[in-house]
Amino acid sequence: MERTDFGGNLRLSDVGREVVLCGWAANRRNLGSLLFIDLRDKSGYVQLVSDHPEDFPDVRNEYVIQAFGTVRKKDVPNPNLPTGEIEVYLHRLVVVNKAVNPPFIIADKTDALEDTRLQYRYLDLRRPALQKKLRVRAEIVKAWHEYFDANGFLEVETPILNLSSPEGARDYLVPSRLHHGCFYALPQSPQLWKQLLMVGGIERYYQVAKCFRDEDLRADRQPEFTQLDEEVSFMDMDQILALNEGFLAKAFKEVIGVDVQLPLRRMKYWDAMDIYGSDKPDTRYEILLRDLKSIMEKTSFEGFKGDCFVKGIVVPGVAHETSRKVLDELQAEARKFSLKGVMSLKYENGALSGSFLKFMDEATQKELAEFLGLKDDDLLLFASHESRRAIDFGMGALRTLYGKKLGLIKPNTYDLLWVVDFPMFDPVEGEPGRYTAEHHPFTRPRDEDLPLLDTKPEEVLAYAYDIIINGYEAGGGTLRIYDHDIQWKIFNLLGLSDEEVARKFGWFIDAFQYGAPPHGGIAFGLDRLAMIMSGTDNIRDVEAFPKNLQAADPMSHAPSTVDQEQLDAVGVKIVEE
Ligand code: ASP
Repeated sequence: MERTDFGGNLRLSDVGREVVLCGWAANRRNLGSLLFIDLRDKSGYVQLVSDHPEDFPDVRNEYVIQAFGTVRKKDVPNPNLPTGEIEVYLHRLVVVNKAVNPPFIIADKTDALEDTRLQYRYLDLRRPALQKKLRVRAEIVKAWHEYFDANGFLEVETPILNLSSPEGARDYLVPSRLHHGCFYALPQSPQLWKQLLMVGGIERYYQVAKCFRDEDLRADRQPEFTQLDEEVSFMDMDQILALNEGFLAKAFKEVIGVDVQLPLRRMKYWDAMDIYGSDKPDTRYEILLRDLKSIMEKTSFEGFKGDCFVKGIVVPGVAHETSRKVLDELQAEARKFSLKGVMSLKYENGALSGSFLKFMDEATQKELAEFLGLKDDDLLLFASHESRRAIDFGMGALRTLYGKKLGLIKPNTYDLLWVVDFPMFDPVEGEPGRYTAEHHPFTRPRDEDLPLLDTKPEEVLAYAYDIIINGYEAGGGTLRIYDHDIQWKIFNLLGLSDEEVARKFGWFIDAFQYGAPPHGGIAFGLDRLAMIMSGTDNIRDVEAFPKNLQAADPMSHAPSTVDQEQLDAVGVKIVEE
């Protein structure tokens, strides 16, 4: 089809040119003697104009059109459009295809419900803002390919139909027709395959990998998502981090023009937890967790005595507006993180106030105010818990809440850091001696901590690293165990009997007996990177066809029931709920 230009690219330098444009009629105003049509294509908008509306066919919103005209300077520029200094004076207009009235107006700013937008995603995708986000996503992938290709990485595809193996989340299962009663699992990540590629001598692997996890959804989580997945042999942790920082710097520069200072700083897991109350700390604002145990155990409040952690945060400038209702909301938030009660004290007119004061003598009040350096209008929130992780996560959640609420985070700032020295194991609360893997079971414990596996597993730290950007876990990886016996032992520590290890992972661990190189890797969450770099906090904005929060697709109506015949073929019987 004839087309000379993408309309959104036209500028003053094009004035006088005869152009042929294709696109959609985004907005049409027929003022009787004047006709204006905004033509939209993938490059943006340009205004078409005619002073002979009667010469042209009737065009409604979202008609597909081809426009022939001359670029001319606009008398009154439109500062809101990149093409606002010019317009295209129409000679001929062809209606290529008609459109029925769309269910919502297709414009960057929309108040259409998200489910409606997802139901008509092909219309939603016409919005330039959404296309821009998809472009950011694609450019990240491009930078990644360029960078790792230049570093000698080989793209290898790994299977989608896999053996079900516990990796933290619930598997999506696919019934097998040929193997009655058996199921494949969709990959939660290509973890085992990429390690086997290292045993296979590939040495440097990468892949844009689709991953599937059947978890409850959140604003930053989808049932299927994409990892930029890598694995490399014969590199230590410093080398792997340096390699990947290089990619991040390239991507930030090339995709959004942001300079990232290298090397990135590293924060130990327990420092991140102690100070920020999170293993993915957003360090762009200065509300920090404070350890109040030694002061609070001097109070007469029983809940702060004995074997527990007491921590607090000071929120500046909010004491005067902190009503009972606000405090109740905070309690509700804290309960989500298993904190039973959050106490509060205000600092106003040079003194503490609040019902908790009845548990504190004056000397302790003074000590607390001095220790925290309290200032007028400060609000102190504090709580206790017997678990170190629980108190940190709970207070960290309140910190995040206030960081957002008070607008302490400057927009368009990027805070990149590695969190390192993760514990190998996460104790299962209320079940002493039971552990889950903090990262995954293939993570290599630090050499110096190996003796602790037999004595104090909870103190074992691992060669694990997460890349944190603006409080999001944008990626994570580890050095891997490459010793058959250690891998076996880790599974035992995670509660698997020898028989279970052999049955579930024998096929994998066996490979380590045939000369497995030291190896490690990382996976970036492409969706999260794209969210961060395109400035949205909604993961669905950076996926072309996402699922809604109920893991459903309002457009195609997946998931759906299937024909009885299909069920019979795979031997699946539906039990009514
Ligand atoms: N497979 C890991 C994950 O999905 C990433 C890695 O360790 O490379 O989190």
